[in-house]
Amino acid sequence: MRIVLLGPQGVGKGTQAQRLSERIGAPHVSTGDLVRAEIAAQTPLGRTLKDRTERGELAPDEVIVSLALTHLADKTSWILDGFPRTLTQARALDEALANAGEALDCVLALQAPDAEVVERLSGRRQSEATGRIYNLANDPPPPDDPGPFVQREDDHPDNIRRRLQIYHTATEPLKGYYAERGLLREIDSTGPIDAVTDAILAVLNALPARASKAPLSGTARAAAQTRADKLAS
Ligand code: AMP
Repeated sequence: MRIVLLGPQGVGKGTQAQRLSERIGAPHVSTGDLVRAEIAAQTPLGRTLKDRTERGELAPDEVIVSLALTHLADKTSWILDGFPRTLTQARALDEALANAGEALDCVLALQAPDAEVVERLSGRRQSEATGRIYNLANDPPPPDDPGPFVQREDDHPDNIRRRLQIYHTATEPLKGYYAERGLLREIDSTGPIDAVTDAILAVLNALPARASKAPLSGTARAAAQTRADKLAS
């Protein structure tokens, strides 16, 4: 299945993506994790993106599209978390899928009020050992995760507010974009984590069966390489 998870930071996309990945066997692909991996490895791209990411600002569309499509090229299913985040990115993903004769199965918009999202983000911690995300309030780290559990720079209060503002202006319009294409399903994400997972699984079970088997490889990889070459020049 090819699923996009849409929603503000802190609404539970990462947590639900991890759970869905375990349940339906599709890989969880987080562009935020890809960006953080570039930063941690101190690649030239990582160095360019570091300040912007820590302030909670979006990376340039060309960079993210190239990173995401390169990562997706050999996969036939995925749960996308944090991509696309702008209309330009959504169109680039559609173009890559169309070139491969493929399509998305569903876009799940996870919803919660801003106040709740802010509260959740302030309690969020990520394990440096496993990369898993926890919440001190309602999803604390289990004993078998050695940690340490760190708060991300972009989860500090000023950065949280900036990210929410960016979400409402740049990303929320994607709901209309996907609703027009009949792909949008809205999920109330204010309840307990298990209830949200169940609501998502119910939506996925109700989707019409679709045979989506071809990877994006050839065409998408070529497009991503062209974009990367343009950036490098
Ligand atoms: P996230 O963990 O999804 O909140 O992503 C962390 C940071 O990575 C964001 O604040 C952006 O700087 C960058 N990033 C991740 N995904 C995207 C995207 N689709 N578009 C632009 N920037 C992104």
